[in-house]
Amino acid sequence: MQQIGHWIDGASVAGGDRTADVFNPATGEVQAQVALASRDDLDRAVRIAAEAQPAWAATNPQRRARVLMKFVQLLNRDMDKLAEALSREHGKTLPDAAGDVQRGLEVVEFCIGAPHHLKGEFTESAGPGIDMYSMRQPLGVTAGITPFNFPAMIPMWMFAPAIACGNAFILKPSERDPSVPLMLAELMEEAGLPKGVLQVVNGDKEAVDAILEHPVIQSVGFVGSTPIAAYIYERAAAHGKRAQCFGGAKNHMIIMPDADMDQAADALVGAGYGAAGERCMAISVAVPVGDETADRLIAKLAPRVEALKVGPYTSGKDVDFGPVVTAQAKENILGLIQSGKDAGAEAVVDGSAMKVQGYEDGFFVGPVLFDRVTPEMDIYRKEIFGPVLCTVRAQSYEEALALATDHEYGNGTAIFTRDGDAARDFAKRVEVGMIGVNVPIPVPLAYHTFGGWKKSMFGDLNQHGPDAFRFYTRTKTVTARWPSGIKEGGEFSIPVME
Ligand code: NAD
Repeated sequence: MQQIGHWIDGASVAGGDRTADVFNPATGEVQAQVALASRDDLDRAVRIAAEAQPAWAATNPQRRARVLMKFVQLLNRDMDKLAEALSREHGKTLPDAAGDVQRGLEVVEFCIGAPHHLKGEFTESAGPGIDMYSMRQPLGVTAGITPFNFPAMIPMWMFAPAIACGNAFILKPSERDPSVPLMLAELMEEAGLPKGVLQVVNGDKEAVDAILEHPVIQSVGFVGSTPIAAYIYERAAAHGKRAQCFGGAKNHMIIMPDADMDQAADALVGAGYGAAGERCMAISVAVPVGDETADRLIAKLAPRVEALKVGPYTSGKDVDFGPVVTAQAKENILGLIQSGKDAGAEAVVDGSAMKVQGYEDGFFVGPVLFDRVTPEMDIYRKEIFGPVLCTVRAQSYEEALALATDHEYGNGTAIFTRDGDAARDFAKRVEVGMIGVNVPIPVPLAYHTFGGWKKSMFGDLNQHGPDAFRFYTRTKTVTARWPSGIKEGGEFSIPVME
């Protein structure tokens, strides 16, 4: 059995007695065991990070950026290897796994601009003979806790800006797919990062609590489910750390009567079922406006959903999406599907009993399309995080807008319409952080920022873009006045102490 340890002080380190099983979700088999760090393991990593960080912070930003430049090259060199390792533990298709790496890589590219992003502000003659300037300085030792669903992208969204700013970073990845984060740390070292600046400590709640309580760690980034995001935010604040914590989602797509229905149906199929719905930006609620729109949409959607191909990533292009991550996730999804049926939602397509031939023990869930879902049903209120799309029929635009605005989550949303005024009004008024106009998954590019509203985000600064450079630095502002100096006359003899 493969044993997966930690990456500490620039080397693979075996863990102690506590481990967790890492599954191959396509076969249901345990393929490795990952170490679960103790408080002592975490403490050792922090001490090493604290030792390595000052020299890294003193390395000029251009040189730090060059390490990231080299890292981008190595990511491209190893793209297939990384995607394969990612699919094997996560279950997503190979092209989707390569996309996971690519969306992380793009943030690394943005961080190569660190010398520019770190420039401070300067006011000449703020008062008589007074100049004022501000600097952005690194925090010191920083940490991040990441979810299973983007094991390459989200770690890079955190460690690339943290390290570009001159911090040391400790990553606690998801224990369900720990291999890719370790590979990334190894590549960063190959790219020239000094030992101890980036470390990976695998673990569960024990490691997380040790991070939250450690006095040397200055900041915590978190991405995962909302209850844990809220917990991390509270505990981090209680221990005097800055925190940005991103939680769950229930993303609505509004379909106006004038939308191109084929385009909307294609968009919904990709955004609803891609990666088996295990994306925080997946569309999980379709809101057609008017019964006629709903009937036309369902007529277009049903055959597309029925035609979706589900299977292991090893089947290559023949597969649209793979299994969900664990047996427990599958059970939870099936339970919610049943609750939807019990509550009176209409399962227009029901793939819940689907089996993949030759992979009967895999954690596969076939696609499910619900119509006539209402807001009090559990399948509407809760994040299902599976290949399940719920249709809620709204009778007016205002009702559709209110659904997206009133839901406790506010990560992403989209409107499909040909009416620019409706789109503009929606983008302005809806209480959600990321909006798509005829774009189903509006994940902003690396140079803008990513973050939801309401229960999808705790904190203020978003991920990547300019916010990341603010989150991983603190501002120091200097007000300077110099007494008038010698401006004329030369000194011709060597100065001596008298
Ligand atoms: P999760 O909350 O179960 O786990 C996330 C991390 O928290 C993992 O590293 C895990 O080890 C740790 N953790 C789990 N339970 C803990 C506990 N009791 N105490 C301390 N730490 C704990 O989330 P997940 O299942 O890995 O990921 C899926 C969730 O992440 C979904 O809700 C999804 O919407 C969300 N997500 C959000 C975003 C976003 O940007 N908003 C992005 C991706 C995923």
